[in-house]
Amino acid sequence: MCRTIAELDHEITECRACPRLVAWREQVARDKRAAFRDETYWGRPVPSFGPGDARLLVVGLAPAAHGGNRTGRMFTGDRAADVLIAAMYRAGLANQPTSTHPDDGLRLLGTRVTAPVHCAPPDNKPTPGERDNCRHWLDTELQLLRPSVRAIVVLGGWGWQALFPALAESGWAVPKPRPKFGHGAHVTLASAVPAGAPLEVFGCYHPSQQNTFTGRLTPAMIEAVLVSAATAAGLRPRP
Ligand code: SF4
Repeated sequence: MCRTIAELDHEITECRACPRLVAWREQVARDKRAAFRDETYWGRPVPSFGPGDARLLVVGLAPAAHGGNRTGRMFTGDRAADVLIAAMYRAGLANQPTSTHPDDGLRLLGTRVTAPVHCAPPDNKPTPGERDNCRHWLDTELQLLRPSVRAIVVLGGWGWQALFPALAESGWAVPKPRPKFGHGAHVTLASAVPAGAPLEVFGCYHPSQQNTFTGRLTPAMIEAVLVSAATAAGLRPRP
Protein backbone atom coordinates (compact mmCIF):
# COMPACT_ATOMS: atom_id res chain seq x y z
CA MET A 1 0.00 0.00 0.00
CA CYS A 2 1.54 3.31 -1.07
CA ARG A 3 1.18 6.14 1.45
CA THR A 4 1.50 9.06 -0.94
CA ILE A 5 0.62 9.83 -4.55
CA ALA A 6 4.33 10.31 -5.31
CA GLU A 7 5.05 6.85 -3.96
CA LEU A 8 2.19 5.41 -6.02
CA ASP A 9 3.41 7.11 -9.20
CA HIS A 10 6.87 5.65 -8.66
CA GLU A 11 5.84 2.14 -7.62
CA ILE A 12 3.52 1.64 -10.55
CA THR A 13 6.32 2.04 -13.08
CA GLU A 14 7.93 -1.17 -11.77
CA CYS A 15 4.80 -3.34 -12.20
CA ARG A 16 5.04 -6.50 -14.35
CA ALA A 17 1.84 -8.23 -13.22
CA CYS A 18 0.33 -8.76 -16.71
CA PRO A 19 2.55 -10.96 -18.92
CA ARG A 20 0.72 -10.12 -22.17
CA LEU A 21 0.92 -6.37 -21.58
CA VAL A 22 4.53 -6.47 -20.43
CA ALA A 23 5.46 -8.30 -23.65
CA TRP A 24 3.40 -5.91 -25.82
CA ARG A 25 4.56 -2.63 -24.29
CA GLU A 26 8.20 -3.74 -24.58
CA GLN A 27 7.75 -5.06 -28.14
CA VAL A 28 6.21 -1.75 -29.24
CA ALA A 29 9.10 0.08 -27.58
CA ARG A 30 11.61 -1.98 -29.56
CA ASP A 31 9.82 -1.89 -32.92
CA LYS A 32 8.69 1.79 -32.75
CA ARG A 33 6.64 3.68 -35.30
CA ALA A 34 8.70 4.99 -38.21
CA ALA A 35 7.96 8.62 -37.29
CA PHE A 36 9.52 8.08 -33.83
CA ARG A 37 12.42 5.86 -34.93
CA ASP A 38 15.04 8.07 -33.24
CA GLU A 39 13.23 8.25 -29.89
CA THR A 40 13.68 6.02 -26.86
CA TYR A 41 10.26 4.69 -25.94
CA TRP A 42 9.22 4.52 -22.28
CA GLY A 43 7.85 0.96 -22.68
CA ARG A 44 6.71 0.63 -19.05
CA PRO A 45 3.56 1.25 -17.01
CA VAL A 46 2.53 4.89 -17.37
CA PRO A 47 1.78 6.63 -14.05
CA SER A 48 -1.10 9.05 -13.65
CA PHE A 49 -0.32 12.72 -14.24
CA GLY A 50 -1.32 15.75 -12.20
CA PRO A 51 -1.26 17.04 -8.64
CA GLY A 52 -1.74 14.72 -5.67
CA ASP A 53 -4.42 16.98 -4.21
CA ALA A 54 -6.53 17.19 -7.37
CA ARG A 55 -10.19 18.17 -7.04
CA LEU A 56 -11.02 16.71 -10.46
CA LEU A 57 -9.94 13.31 -11.81
CA VAL A 58 -10.14 12.38 -15.50
CA VAL A 59 -10.29 8.63 -16.11
CA GLY A 60 -9.41 7.22 -19.53
CA LEU A 61 -8.91 3.64 -20.69
CA ALA A 62 -5.18 2.81 -21.02
CA PRO A 63 -2.05 4.45 -22.48
CA ALA A 64 -1.70 4.46 -26.26
CA ALA A 65 1.08 2.36 -27.78
CA HIS A 66 2.82 5.35 -29.41
CA GLY A 67 1.46 8.00 -27.01
CA GLY A 68 1.87 7.33 -23.31
CA ASN A 69 3.86 4.16 -23.93
CA ARG A 70 6.33 6.24 -25.95
CA THR A 71 6.50 9.40 -23.85
CA GLY A 72 5.94 7.96 -20.36
CA ARG A 73 3.20 10.47 -19.52
CA MET A 74 -0.55 9.87 -19.56
CA PHE A 75 -2.37 11.53 -22.51
CA THR A 76 0.85 12.75 -24.10
CA GLY A 77 1.98 12.56 -27.72
CA ASP A 78 -1.06 11.24 -29.58
CA ARG A 79 -4.27 12.51 -31.19
CA ALA A 80 -6.46 11.75 -28.17
CA ALA A 81 -4.11 13.88 -26.07
CA ASP A 82 -4.35 16.72 -28.60
CA VAL A 83 -8.13 16.78 -28.20
CA LEU A 84 -8.29 16.28 -24.44
CA ILE A 85 -5.57 18.71 -23.40
CA ALA A 86 -6.81 21.44 -25.75
CA ALA A 87 -10.28 21.07 -24.18
CA MET A 88 -8.78 21.09 -20.68
CA TYR A 89 -6.92 24.29 -21.53
CA ARG A 90 -10.11 25.96 -22.75
CA ALA A 91 -11.88 24.81 -19.55
CA GLY A 92 -9.10 26.30 -17.39
CA LEU A 93 -7.71 22.94 -16.31
CA ALA A 94 -4.30 23.10 -18.04
CA ASN A 95 -1.72 25.86 -18.45
CA GLN A 96 -1.23 25.19 -22.18
CA PRO A 97 -3.23 23.55 -24.97
CA THR A 98 -0.70 20.91 -26.03
CA SER A 99 0.78 17.75 -24.53
CA THR A 100 3.67 16.46 -26.61
CA HIS A 101 6.41 15.20 -24.30
CA PRO A 102 7.24 15.12 -20.56
CA ASP A 103 9.40 18.27 -20.74
CA ASP A 104 6.90 20.41 -22.62
CA GLY A 105 5.95 22.53 -19.59
CA LEU A 106 2.38 21.23 -19.29
CA ARG A 107 0.77 21.56 -15.86
CA LEU A 108 -2.68 20.35 -15.03
CA LEU A 109 -4.55 22.73 -12.73
CA GLY A 110 -6.34 21.03 -9.86
CA THR A 111 -6.81 18.04 -12.14
CA ARG A 112 -5.20 14.64 -12.53
CA VAL A 113 -5.50 12.16 -15.40
CA THR A 114 -5.44 8.41 -14.81
CA ALA A 115 -6.56 5.13 -16.39
CA PRO A 116 -7.89 1.83 -15.03
CA VAL A 117 -5.08 0.05 -16.94
CA HIS A 118 -1.58 1.55 -16.88
CA CYS A 119 0.09 -0.41 -19.70
CA ALA A 120 -0.64 -0.03 -23.40
CA PRO A 121 -2.77 -2.96 -24.59
CA PRO A 122 -2.91 -4.42 -28.13
CA ASP A 123 -5.77 -2.79 -30.10
CA ASN A 124 -6.51 -0.61 -27.04
CA LYS A 125 -8.35 -3.58 -25.55
CA PRO A 126 -7.26 -4.82 -22.12
CA THR A 127 -8.72 -8.16 -21.03
CA PRO A 128 -10.98 -8.35 -17.96
CA GLY A 129 -8.13 -10.10 -16.14
CA GLU A 130 -5.73 -7.25 -16.92
CA ARG A 131 -8.31 -4.71 -15.76
CA ASP A 132 -8.68 -6.64 -12.51
CA ASN A 133 -4.90 -6.94 -12.05
CA CYS A 134 -4.57 -3.16 -12.31
CA ARG A 135 -7.54 -2.41 -10.02
CA HIS A 136 -5.48 -2.14 -6.84
CA TRP A 137 -3.53 0.80 -8.30
CA LEU A 138 -6.80 2.63 -9.00
CA ASP A 139 -8.20 1.75 -5.58
CA THR A 140 -5.10 3.17 -3.92
CA GLU A 141 -5.18 6.32 -6.05
CA LEU A 142 -8.83 6.98 -5.20
CA GLN A 143 -8.20 6.44 -1.51
CA LEU A 144 -5.24 8.83 -1.55
CA LEU A 145 -7.25 11.44 -3.48
CA ARG A 146 -10.37 11.10 -1.33
CA PRO A 147 -9.63 14.16 0.86
CA SER A 148 -9.50 16.45 -2.18
CA VAL A 149 -11.36 14.94 -5.14
CA ARG A 150 -14.90 16.18 -5.71
CA ALA A 151 -15.62 15.26 -9.35
CA ILE A 152 -14.60 12.69 -11.95
CA VAL A 153 -14.91 12.73 -15.73
CA VAL A 154 -14.88 9.24 -17.24
CA LEU A 155 -13.86 9.02 -20.89
CA GLY A 156 -15.80 6.16 -22.45
CA GLY A 157 -17.96 3.26 -21.35
CA TRP A 158 -15.07 0.90 -20.70
CA GLY A 159 -13.56 3.24 -18.12
CA TRP A 160 -17.01 3.83 -16.62
CA GLN A 161 -17.51 0.11 -16.04
CA ALA A 162 -14.04 -0.26 -14.57
CA LEU A 163 -14.34 2.75 -12.26
CA PHE A 164 -17.51 2.05 -10.27
CA PRO A 165 -16.27 -1.05 -8.40
CA ALA A 166 -13.17 0.94 -7.45
CA LEU A 167 -15.32 3.82 -6.19
CA ALA A 168 -17.34 1.42 -4.05
CA GLU A 169 -14.10 0.02 -2.63
CA SER A 170 -12.73 3.49 -1.95
CA GLY A 171 -15.49 4.98 0.18
CA TRP A 172 -18.42 6.09 -2.00
CA ALA A 173 -21.93 4.63 -2.11
CA VAL A 174 -22.55 3.21 -5.59
CA PRO A 175 -26.24 2.63 -6.42
CA LYS A 176 -27.55 -0.70 -7.70
CA PRO A 177 -28.04 -1.17 -10.55
CA ARG A 178 -24.98 0.83 -11.44
CA PRO A 179 -25.55 4.10 -13.32
CA LYS A 180 -25.46 3.72 -17.11
CA PHE A 181 -22.74 5.33 -19.20
CA GLY A 182 -23.62 7.94 -21.78
CA HIS A 183 -22.12 11.19 -23.02
CA GLY A 184 -23.36 13.80 -20.55
CA ALA A 185 -24.35 11.21 -17.92
CA HIS A 186 -24.05 12.67 -14.43
CA VAL A 187 -24.45 10.94 -11.09
CA THR A 188 -23.82 12.11 -7.53
CA LEU A 189 -22.39 9.51 -5.15
CA ALA A 190 -22.79 9.96 -1.42
CA SER A 191 -19.84 9.21 0.81
CA ALA A 192 -19.94 5.78 2.44
CA VAL A 193 -17.59 6.86 5.21
CA PRO A 194 -18.35 9.31 8.03
CA ALA A 195 -17.62 12.96 7.23
CA GLY A 196 -16.60 12.08 3.67
CA ALA A 197 -17.53 14.34 0.77
CA PRO A 198 -19.89 13.33 -2.05
CA LEU A 199 -18.51 12.81 -5.53
CA GLU A 200 -19.95 14.02 -8.87
CA VAL A 201 -19.25 11.57 -11.73
CA PHE A 202 -19.64 12.68 -15.36
CA GLY A 203 -19.59 10.56 -18.52
CA CYS A 204 -17.95 11.75 -21.74
CA TYR A 205 -17.18 9.95 -24.99
CA HIS A 206 -13.52 8.98 -25.25
CA PRO A 207 -11.48 11.37 -27.45
CA SER A 208 -10.29 8.46 -29.61
CA GLN A 209 -9.66 9.09 -33.30
CA GLN A 210 -12.71 6.95 -34.06
CA ASN A 211 -14.93 9.32 -32.07
CA THR A 212 -13.34 12.62 -33.06
CA PHE A 213 -12.83 11.90 -36.79
CA THR A 214 -16.46 10.84 -37.17
CA GLY A 215 -17.77 13.86 -35.25
CA ARG A 216 -19.33 11.67 -32.56
CA LEU A 217 -17.31 13.75 -30.10
CA THR A 218 -16.63 17.38 -30.99
CA PRO A 219 -14.25 19.78 -29.19
CA ALA A 220 -17.27 21.69 -27.87
CA MET A 221 -18.83 18.51 -26.45
CA ILE A 222 -15.76 17.48 -24.43
CA GLU A 223 -15.20 21.06 -23.26
CA ALA A 224 -18.80 21.30 -22.02
CA VAL A 225 -18.43 18.17 -19.86
CA LEU A 226 -15.09 19.37 -18.48
CA VAL A 227 -16.57 22.77 -17.61
CA SER A 228 -19.51 21.12 -15.78
CA ALA A 229 -17.17 18.84 -13.86
CA ALA A 230 -14.72 21.64 -13.05
CA THR A 231 -17.62 23.70 -11.69
CA ALA A 232 -18.86 20.77 -9.60
CA ALA A 233 -15.33 20.28 -8.29
CA GLY A 234 -15.07 23.94 -7.23
CA LEU A 235 -12.40 24.73 -9.80
CA ARG A 236 -14.65 27.21 -11.61
CA PRO A 237 -17.24 29.60 -10.21
CA ARG A 238 -20.87 28.55 -10.57
CA PRO A 239 -22.63 30.54 -13.31
S1 SF4 B 1 -1.63 -3.16 -16.61
FE1 SF4 B 1 -1.42 -2.53 -14.46
S2 SF4 B 1 -1.28 -4.46 -13.29
FE2 SF4 B 1 -0.84 -4.94 -15.45
S3 SF4 B 1 1.42 -4.79 -15.64
FE3 SF4 B 1 0.57 -2.81 -16.21
S4 SF4 B 1 0.61 -1.60 -14.31
FE4 SF4 B 1 0.82 -3.77 -13.74
